[in-house]
Formats: sequence, C-alpha cells, structure tokens
Amino acid sequence: MALYENQQLKVYNSLTGKKEVFTPLNEGHVGMYVCGPTVYSNVHLGNCRTFMSFDMIFRYLRHLGYKVRYVRNITDAGHLEDDAGEGEDKIAKKARLEKLEPMEVVQRYTVDFHNILQKFNFLPPSIEPTATGHIIEQIEIIKEILEKGFAYEKNGSVYFDVKKFNEAYEYGKLSGRKLEDMIANTRELAAQDEKNSPQDFALWKRAEPQHIMRWPSPWGDGFPGWHLECTAMSTKYLGDTFDIHGGGMDLKFPHHECEIAQAEACNGQSPVNYWLHANMLTLNGKKMAKSTGNNILPNEIFTGDNNILSKPFSPAVVRFFMMQAHYTSILDLSNDALLASEKGYLRLMEAMDQMSGLSTGEASTFDYMAWRQKSYDAMNDDFNTPILIANLFEAVKQINLVKEGKGSITTEDKQLLETTLKAFVFDVLGLEEVSEQDQDSEQLAGVVNLLIQLRNEARANKDFTTSDKIRDELAGLGIQLKDGKEGTTFSTR
Ligand code: AMP
Ligand code: ZN
Repeated sequence: MALYENQQLKVYNSLTGKKEVFTPLNEGHVGMYVCGPTVYSNVHLGNCRTFMSFDMIFRYLRHLGYKVRYVRNITDAGHLEDDAGEGEDKIAKKARLEKLEPMEVVQRYTVDFHNILQKFNFLPPSIEPTATGHIIEQIEIIKEILEKGFAYEKNGSVYFDVKKFNEAYEYGKLSGRKLEDMIANTRELAAQDEKNSPQDFALWKRAEPQHIMRWPSPWGDGFPGWHLECTAMSTKYLGDTFDIHGGGMDLKFPHHECEIAQAEACNGQSPVNYWLHANMLTLNGKKMAKSTGNNILPNEIFTGDNNILSKPFSPAVVRFFMMQAHYTSILDLSNDALLASEKGYLRLMEAMDQMSGLSTGEASTFDYMAWRQKSYDAMNDDFNTPILIANLFEAVKQINLVKEGKGSITTEDKQLLETTLKAFVFDVLGLEEVSEQDQDSEQLAGVVNLLIQLRNEARANKDFTTSDKIRDELAGLGIQLKDGKEGTTFSTR
C-alpha cells in the first residue's frame, strides 16, 4: 500500500484561497509544472528559495509514493524587461551588452543554474523544456486562440483580448482582481501602443530588424510572449488540465493569470487544479531581486566572499535555514539567522551520527509511532517544514536522553526512529551535504584540458621544452597524458 493511501495531504490552493485535500486527477500520479528561471544572469538566493520550496514538495510527493512528472522550464526567450510585455527581451539585451550570441548567454546561465542546484542537492525535474524548443507549439496555441476570437493581430504582433475573454470567462480570478478595477486604475494607452486595451498582452511580438531572437510565423518574423511558453509546455507534457502549478508569489499576476486565460481561451477548460505559490526571500526586509541589487549569490555565501555575512555557510546549512520557514511565509536572510540555523543543523547531524550506536532496552520511554505520525501530520498540512523540523528535534532530544542513560529505546523503535529520521531529513528535506568530490573532478578535468591545450600550442610552436615540462610535471602529480588519433586524453592514478 502506498503511503499516500493513509496520509491525507492538504495543500493551500491560491485559486480558492483555501487549504484543500489533495486529490490528483489520476490516482497515484501527479503532474506538476513550475515556472523556471530566465537564464540571463546568475540565479540569486531568492530564486533558489522558490525552486527549493518546489524541490521539497516534489520530494514529499515522491516520498508519499506518487509517480510525479515534474516539469520545470527554462525561459530562454520572450521574457521582456517589463511584465506588461514591453521593453527589450532580457536575454537579447544581455547578449547585445556582452557581445555574445543569445544562446551563449542562455548556455552560460543554464550551466550556472544547474551547478547551484546541484550544490543544494536538488532532484532534477522529470522534464526541463525550453521556450525556444517549443516555438511551434506556441504558434499553434496562438492560431487556436485567434480562431476562437480571443486575440487579434496588429502589424505582425498578436495580442490577447482580455475584455473579450472576460465576457466568456473570468480574468483575474487567481489574483483576486476585477477587470473593471484594473481598467479604472490604469492610465490611457500611449498613442504608439498597438494594443486595444492596456490589459491586453502579447502572444506574439513582431521582431524589429535589429532583434536577433526571431522565428518565422504566420504573422511574420517575431518571437513569443513570455506567458505563452508556460501554457505551451505545461499542457504539452501534463495535459490540458493537470494537478499542480507552482511558482513564486510574484508570478501570480500577471504571469499566471495570463496562463489561465490563454489555456481557457484555447482549450475551454481550467488548466490547473491546485495553484501553489512560494513566498519571497528578503534581505534587509526587502525582496531579494536582481534588478535592485538587493541580492546575494549562493556561491558568495558558500565561499564567504560577501559583505553581509560574518563567515561562509555550507549549502546544507542554507537549505536547512530555508526549510525552517513555511514556504508560504516571507523569510528574511541575516547573519544571525544563518548562525542559528548552522547550530541547529549541526545538532541534528550529530544526533543522527549517534543514532545507530544507541543501546537498546526492554521498553521505550517515548512514543516513537506517535512521533512519526506527527511528522507526517506536519507535512500533510500544506508541507509545514518548520513544524516538521521542530518535531524532528523531539527525536534529537530522545536520542540524547537515551545516550545519557536517562531514557531507553527498544530495537523496533530504534529501527523506526532511524528509517523515519533519515527519510524526513535526507529524502524529504534534502539535507544531505553534496560531496565535493564530483565537483572537484569536474574542475580537475577543466584544468588538465587547459594544460593539454597549452601543450599543443607549445608543440605547434616547436617549443618542446615547455610541452615536455607540462607532460612531466603532470606525470609527477600522477596525471598521465596519452596522445592518440583523437587527440590527447589523460588518466589519473
Ligand atoms: P525569474 O528568473 O526572474 O523568472 O525568477 C525565477 C523564479 O524566482 C520565479 O519563480 C520568481 O518568483 C522567483 N523569485 C524571484 N525573486 C525571489 C525572491 N526574492 N524570493 C523568492 N523567489 C523569488
Ligand atoms: Zn511560467
């Protein structure tokens, strides 16, 4: 019997504003989509918090025995500087400023994103689709929306007709806004604006001659609007209606509101049963954000190379710090908070190290079965990790009591304690230090390949003193170079 059959999970659904019993569309299976990063800069710790909240949710759903298809996209086109769908494409702008190909920008920051997530011990999603890989799907959706009369074309761009949509459906239901209020509170359209109404948003934008990221479409060369990619990728991989859609609170409006409108206009049905929104990480009481400079990069925390914290903190400690807050609460990063989390994390790890060495007795002085259920109750209550952690510290207390001879534990309870604690700490909260070894070997390969390149250049210049020196010194360090038809490879002792 799968765990989910006797653990009733409730989730806070932003769409209804209520905690609801979670019932997936297909028993035993969960489809979850989370808006991924726009890869035009290094992810800051705020971005990581949102993704970490959903990593924890993914982990718990799996732990309950669900087969989860978790789709988290990479936004590599179409995200304009301002949410209203104006301004330059963020990636194209970075490419222009740094004189790079847009796809070089995308590659660089996608690699950075993956590196950081690996350090934080994230599980990879089941599918990580990109916006540029789904242009055809996006064009198909636009055609469908145009056909159904909820969009209009203007000079090679296509806009979603919010007023028309609102006559048949309800625009604003996720964010609790009324279209009439929105209209009353917005300024008039600028004369040069092509949209019929300020609330309308772009499904497709005409590419001006200088715009480098462009694709052919029935409306001419252009690029998709940001909101559209998520509708295309979520419904493609999870179906017209799926279980969970997640993202940061700041995406609720307009991004997620527009996603609902697009999907309903296209398929006539609500795309998502449970909308989950993760709250923001703040620094000095203000939202951590790239645009304001009020942010810190994960690597700056791991190395201690920053002006905010007194010392370096490991990824597991930062993860523990994040898990100590409920994912729907605001969390403020500070030196004191991280120091306290480090203390707690070390205390937990120490107890876990000592757990297997505990001697067992005739009876237990603690109800471990009830404790286990309390841990599930915490997670079943909309993934309440702070309550879970508090409950895990009940076990830490018991471990210490048994160790000091002030309490006792039976063999069965000890086994229950070990499996439960490991399951929650490692599988659900993901609090395992990622071994530095894998990262070290990646770095080593990079350095040796660079030396191989320099040796090849030296040989091409007939500078055999240098080329031999590189080979011999590497050999002295236990790294053998082997010259073959395919080039030079290396092996280590
Ligand atoms: P972006 O790359 O700007 O599209 O953002 C990626 C994700 O990070 C989105 O889900 C945002 O909601 C989230 N995010 C941005 N800033 C913060 C923050 N300060 N705290 C938590 N999540 C954030
Ligand atoms: Zn999205």
